[in-house]
Amino acid sequence: MAAPLYQRLLLKLSGEALQGAQGSGIDPAVLQRVAVEVAALAKKGVQVGIVIGGGNYCRGATLETVGVHRVTGDRMGMLATVINSIALADALNNAGAPARVLSAVAIPKVCEDFSREAALRALDAGEVVVFAAGTGNPFFTTDTAACLRGIEIGADVVCKATMVDGIYDADPKKNPSATRFTELTLDEVLERKLGVMDLTAILLCQEHKMPLRVFDMTTPGNLTRIVEDLETGTRVNPA
Ligand code: UDP
Repeated sequence: MAAPLYQRLLLKLSGEALQGAQGSGIDPAVLQRVAVEVAALAKKGVQVGIVIGGGNYCRGATLETVGVHRVTGDRMGMLATVINSIALADALNNAGAPARVLSAVAIPKVCEDFSREAALRALDAGEVVVFAAGTGNPFFTTDTAACLRGIEIGADVVCKATMVDGIYDADPKKNPSATRFTELTLDEVLERKLGVMDLTAILLCQEHKMPLRVFDMTTPGNLTRIVEDLETGTRVNPA
């Protein structure tokens, strides 16, 4: 068996990735499948950090449109990521992968506080680390949190799990002739205004030379493929 391509990776999951067909919240079957796939990666010896979004419950920007103050809405969004994180850590433990939640917002009776040192200790001990509450600040997204945590822990790559099998030159749902990139650079993502992640996240990766992989997590086995080949999804190189 070939050695994995990465020793330490940061996986970004959207909250919607857990909701399955039910339209919100957490679908237990989907949660379990994701946990089993992550556990398989951890059993290969890959150190895995995870940032999960909260869009399956709420987003500050959406709540603002119905009159909730943006900062309040973003706090609600960050708490939603905590719900997803503790659910995912529980499912990971059940799948045989010891997991720990480190939160950017202190909720001491629910999970531990984030620190880079605690994260590195847990990763080196073979635990999966789930980073909860995004960056801990309003006006940011969990894409930015994923890149931030990936850089902080010295991950080899940030892997963004989506519902599409990579980055296309146009929206493949609207344009059947859209073509998928196998690789491109962070500069090209910015120049072509490809909506891979928000601008803050991409600029952070550019400044710290953090590569990305964008892939379809709804296809079973793809998470393992990411560490075994360079063809799955799209690679975004720092230069
Ligand atoms: N959020 C925030 N600060 C952060 C990360 C997230 O305020 O650092 C809030 C924000 O309201 C965001 C919500 O949490 O909309 C859920 O995160 P996100 O939209 O990134 O989740 P996803 O779309 O990945 O499910």
